[in-house]
Amino acid sequence: MPSSPDVPLDELYGEMIIDHYRNPRHSDPVPVADLEAEEDNPFCGDRVTLRLKLDEDGRIAEVGIQTDGCSIIKATASMMGEALRWKSLEQVDRLAQRFRDMMQGKLTAEGEEESLGDLKALQAVMQFPVRIKCTLLAWTALEKGMKRYRSSQARDQ
Ligand code: ZN
Repeated sequence: MPSSPDVPLDELYGEMIIDHYRNPRHSDPVPVADLEAEEDNPFCGDRVTLRLKLDEDGRIAEVGIQTDGCSIIKATASMMGEALRWKSLEQVDRLAQRFRDMMQGKLTAEGEEESLGDLKALQAVMQFPVRIKCTLLAWTALEKGMKRYRSSQARDQ
């Protein structure tokens, strides 16, 4: 059973997820950020803090994500961080939606899954429905941060 302590984590989730959990990417703080957000899930203690710096073309140049909580929020944040580099916010909108669709089993065409790249490894988490929230928390933070950034941009114009 998945809850058995005898089953190694990498057999449950796959090596890629475990590697990101053990060696999180983009976890250094970004000192000057254009976009920031924080989100937590009081039920399992997961927390994510996200700071992004955009370049002059509006692409994500620097990513800093810190997490507290379970292995899944840590792995997801690291994998998401890698996927965000050099994307425009419009591309990130599509990526976030596609990721949610994947975790809800709504992807139909094969190409949609491929476009998620390494993130598709997180489908392994779907075997553990209580953990799906953990994979979505980082994306919720990201979407909130983007929304706030866009409304501040709209105000400045
Ligand atoms: Zn969690």
